[in-house]
Amino acid sequence: MKDRLLLMIPGPIEFTPEVMRAMGMPTTSHIAPNFIEVFGQVLERLREVFLCPDGQPFVVAGSGTLAMDMAAANLVEPGDRALVVNTGVFGDRFAAILERYGAEVTQVQAPVVGEVPALEEVEATLRTADYKLMTITHVDTSTGVAADVKALAELGRRYGALVVVDGVCAVAGEEMRQQEWGIDIALTASQKAIGVPPGLALLVAGPRAMETFRQRKTPVTNYYADWSNWLPIMEAYEARRVAYFGTPPVNLIWALNVSLGQILGEGMETRFERHRRLSQAMKAAVRAMGLEQVPRRPEIGAHTLTAPYFPEGIDRSVLARIRAAGVIVAGGLHPAIKDRYFRIGHMGAVSPSDILTTVGAIERGLIEAGYDLKPGLGLTAAQAVLAEG
Ligand SMILES: *Cc1c(COP(=O)(O)O)cnc(C)c1O
Repeated sequence: MKDRLLLMIPGPIEFTPEVMRAMGMPTTSHIAPNFIEVFGQVLERLREVFLCPDGQPFVVAGSGTLAMDMAAANLVEPGDRALVVNTGVFGDRFAAILERYGAEVTQVQAPVVGEVPALEEVEATLRTADYKLMTITHVDTSTGVAADVKALAELGRRYGALVVVDGVCAVAGEEMRQQEWGIDIALTASQKAIGVPPGLALLVAGPRAMETFRQRKTPVTNYYADWSNWLPIMEAYEARRVAYFGTPPVNLIWALNVSLGQILGEGMETRFERHRRLSQAMKAAVRAMGLEQVPRRPEIGAHTLTAPYFPEGIDRSVLARIRAAGVIVAGGLHPAIKDRYFRIGHMGAVSPSDILTTVGAIERGLIEAGYDLKPGLGLTAAQAVLAEG
């Protein structure tokens, strides 16, 4: 029997064999001609995946938090006002990062865990002061809530704020059209829907963000994140020339090129639709099993993960039973409800059979933990949604 478990958490995710093969290739020099070509292709393909033909991509070794740090470090000068649209833990994190660079941060909080702040409230706050930028967490991985990025970005633009989207659990899974929606910075990390092992911070900056950076009056106070160091590197590789600032993670960038090729091969529209469909199947199964979800309304549920509460009488020890049935899911993250819910990631190369395997393992785990559930209820609901596709 295979002893490999299926990894269904909100990052790292399951990676394709082609991506893993690229990780295992003998590492070349970062100035080898074939690496220069691959890095150049990666930058071109990122514009297509972010749907931002006029954007400047940055690919830097680090995690998603570095991408957030890079956005803040390069845009914020001491005393700038920033608005954080907060839907959970990663909004808190963005506020802390912005403050570190001297921003005066105002947060618009969701009224309760599992909700989003009302657009009217965000607009009312934007009216009160001159905000240089606003941040939006597209999918808050701690709650499974998706923000209405399109509407929020439009609001931000109307009031003259640069719009920064933390798309770490969203880009290449949730619909996001950076240029069309007027998003000035979108950022993510390799290990989520982009489908590459952890280690890359990915960011695309639009023309207004780059102009704001160029007009800075004070130097960027973070040496590693400073675009003054990275922009010449990105421009050089895209022009198929060599440049050095910090050694790029060669194998990760090969793997990224393979994954971006697979993403674009599928097509962004097809990919958004697949994520929607698989998410609907998972959420239908969860409902059929009698579990409530953290997002308070179906319209604000993310398509990249599902966050169900444990049913009455069941606690987090059920996660070990689900694991014993072959699937790894994640525990809670939001401090207010940490021990009351769990999280199922379904992004990237995830397939209908992964969804069915996961639902089956959750059913087994719950039943073995003593939950009164008719076997197959969740599977039947998921199958019904999948059959529509
Ligand atoms: C995972 C995640 C991050 C942090 O990314 P790391 O790679 O863990 O640093 C930030 N924001 C969101 C929305 C995430 O899901």
